[in-house]
Amino acid sequence: MNKLLVANWKMNKNTLECIEFFNEFNSKYSAKRDAWVSPQAIHLSLAIHEGAKKNVKCGSQNASDHTSGAYTGELSPKNLKELGAHFTLLGHSERRQYFNETSKLLNSKVKTALQEGLKVIYCVGETLPERESNQTLSIVGDQIHQGLNDITDAHEDNLIVAYEPVWAIGTGKTASPTQAQQVHAFIRAELKKKFPSFGDKVRLLYGGSVKPDNVEELLGQKDIDGGLVGGASLKAKDFLALCGDK
Ligand code: PEP
Repeated sequence: MNKLLVANWKMNKNTLECIEFFNEFNSKYSAKRDAWVSPQAIHLSLAIHEGAKKNVKCGSQNASDHTSGAYTGELSPKNLKELGAHFTLLGHSERRQYFNETSKLLNSKVKTALQEGLKVIYCVGETLPERESNQTLSIVGDQIHQGLNDITDAHEDNLIVAYEPVWAIGTGKTASPTQAQQVHAFIRAELKKKFPSFGDKVRLLYGGSVKPDNVEELLGQKDIDGGLVGGASLKAKDFLALCGDK
């Protein structure tokens, strides 16, 4: 399977900047690697339209655990799917940290999004104090087990997990390929135990200051199937380089 690079634009870019990104990206993207883009929800429709010209799939950065109703400000996974969204990120550390999203709530969001036919990129990762106190594997293991409870084989093609050490997100500090591979191997083993029929097929992405100059070594690791990228996905030139199009 191709390596997958997912752009997480967070709350960045205005409408014109989105259009300029796709104009430049689409002119050089050769699909050596799969490229997905996650803009702000207000630009999702535009991104889906522009991305479709080069089979670049687009998705949201969050989705509700409800499909409709009195949930002001929320994003319905049902309506995201109807709009043409391909996936949603869930459990990004910024959602966990600033919006108090727990793995229990995220489990509900993951199940609802999968039921509505979206692919889910479920994010996990430890903070610096957790790493320094040797809790990385237990924290990540808990996030996997709590967040991915009760997922059936019917969704085997739609689950993706992103390991993003919180200390490496937007900080310029990257986990070394060895550090990243160690956690990815652990996640792979946990997924195989939890989902014996498909745990070995779930795509595992690494996120945390992935850049053109470190991407090849990270993607060369056995259990790293792609990257979830913030800062370096904002410039078309850099995202192209991550996708193997220099
Ligand atoms: C992210 O936000 O998911 C991320 C990995 O950001 P950055 O690449 O900027 O560290």
